[in-house]
Amino acid sequence: MRIAMVSEHASPLAAVGSVDAGGQNVHVAALSTALAAQGHDVTVYTRRDAAALPHRVAFGAGVEVVNVDAGPAMRVPKDELLPYIPQLADGIADDWARRGVPDVVHSHFWMSGLAALGAVESMPLAHVPTVHTFHALGVVKRRFQGAADTSPIARQWLEPHVGSRVAAIVATSQDEVRELSDQGIAEGKVHVVPCGVDPAAFSARGGSAARSARYRLLSVGRLVPRKGVDIVIDALARLDRDGMDAELVVLGSSGGAAETAGALDDPEISRLADSAAAAGVADRVRFTGQIDQAALPRWYRSADAVVCTPWYEPFGIVPLEAMACGVPVVAAAVGGLQDTVVDGVTGLLVPPFDADATAAALTKVLTDTALSAELSRAGRARVRENYTWTRVARDTARVYEQLVDAGAPASVAEPAWGGASR
Ligand code: UDP
Repeated sequence: MRIAMVSEHASPLAAVGSVDAGGQNVHVAALSTALAAQGHDVTVYTRRDAAALPHRVAFGAGVEVVNVDAGPAMRVPKDELLPYIPQLADGIADDWARRGVPDVVHSHFWMSGLAALGAVESMPLAHVPTVHTFHALGVVKRRFQGAADTSPIARQWLEPHVGSRVAAIVATSQDEVRELSDQGIAEGKVHVVPCGVDPAAFSARGGSAARSARYRLLSVGRLVPRKGVDIVIDALARLDRDGMDAELVVLGSSGGAAETAGALDDPEISRLADSAAAAGVADRVRFTGQIDQAALPRWYRSADAVVCTPWYEPFGIVPLEAMACGVPVVAAAVGGLQDTVVDGVTGLLVPPFDADATAAALTKVLTDTALSAELSRAGRARVRENYTWTRVARDTARVYEQLVDAGAPASVAEPAWGGASR
């Protein structure tokens, strides 16, 4: 199949681990690569965010990235991208007009859904079924972030509009299925396919980052408040009070995608460092800034436990990477983490926003070596069985094939959103 991916802010070419570059970039890059390895032809459309980028870039065998001119050729926060989406839709449609329409288009994040629908609707004679993955839902973000949510107000109606217009939705967790159903989206068009991990890159075998005899806890992710690193710092302070000699290493940044500057130049790192000082554990928390994917397995393997205590989490690739590396996970029981981490089997789940429970679970994992070894073994097995990108790509392609075979309508009829202006 000829597959078009649309990922407006999250390019496979970007370095991940900063404010707007994380799981979606990894997902689009890995899914596209795995689909290509299964014989499909994949083009990823993203917004040009640097002047020097070529229009088309080969991204491994069978995958091309097209940098579409839509708004300034520089990094723009994703919450400011909506005005440029019609231009992105036009750029995609232009490419299809020149090179032929794809068999299916799969958009990622709500604004990409608008761009994909706009491109499809501007070619009424073509038949291009639309598949969408939300990655995050505005309604959940607003629930937890309230006034701090900087999403454009129009997300409140445009996101459900995407959900009702597309031919199929690939949700990444059961929790997302419930949220979509609460929004009135027909369950019949929602398919659950999780995110994945590359077990060749993330494995228990290989070197590890230097460490001392202290227990090492690891937090990995884009540094945004909702990732709940404050809760891990509080849990560390409790371990400290209980006399456990432990440290926390925090990987990731809140700066630009290409940021490699000194970690403490980062405002979110400064805020968290202040929290660590206030909790009396400043000397036990280390911030590395953004770390490249290729260097991450060494960090995972150096840890005794990986801790993920987000306020909410649409999927959460980090626990999969930890499990693939054989490191026990302690995670808040929210969103996709409830699917990936089987409590007591591949990790320990704790109630959200609960530093005491997090500390208690960590104490168990750190002190019970038999439990830790068993979680490690079961985590690796679970990832191999359910969460390889190869499997994710196969299951996603099955959704595409059903639509193509059924000759499904490109999108469900309903008055068009402005869409492409051509
Ligand atoms: N990541 C990275 N370098 C960092 C921090 C994070 O490569 O310094 C990657 C991490 O390995 C994972 C992704 O960013 O693959 C985060 O994905 P996740 O689904 O956990 O969170 P999201 O970014 O989608 O909120």
